Amino acid sequence: MLQIKEPDYEKIISYAKEHLPEEACGLVAGCLDGGVKKIKKIYFLTNTDKSSTHYFMDINEQLAAVRDMRKHGLALLGSWHSHPDSPAGFSEEDRRLAYDSSISYLILSLMHRDEPQFKSYTISREKEVTEEPVILEKCETNS
Ligand SMILES: [Zn+2]
Repeated sequence: MLQIKEPDYEKIISYAKEHLPEEACGLVAGCLDGGVKKIKKIYFLTNTDKSSTHYFMDINEQLAAVRDMRKHGLALLGSWHSHPDSPAGFSEEDRRLAYDSSISYLILSLMHRDEPQFKSYTISREKEVTEEPVILEKCETNS
């Protein structure tokens, strides 16, 4: 199970929309709390493929993000990318690129621009893909 704060989720959507028609991508970090992956920080990385159907995260930015996580005591929880014109399913390409059974793979579909779809998956060492529930955490407001 994966938990993300609503403002962080909104940030991913706006960033991904700004980068249309290309796929946008990045990493998420946070902590594991009783089996729940709680996202505390989102990293926005350059898609060096500059493609609407593929992504590759800039290597130097990946290293910088991981260093930043260490600095803040956060664990790498997953990677995310957008699907500009297809559903939030795990594509064959996504399966090919997924190699880490310890993290989540988050996919944001912008196929319906005003109704983004957000899904999270894990992949086993045998490359079996499982969807995992995503909880949108609403923030309390004092106003
Ligand atoms: Zn994909």
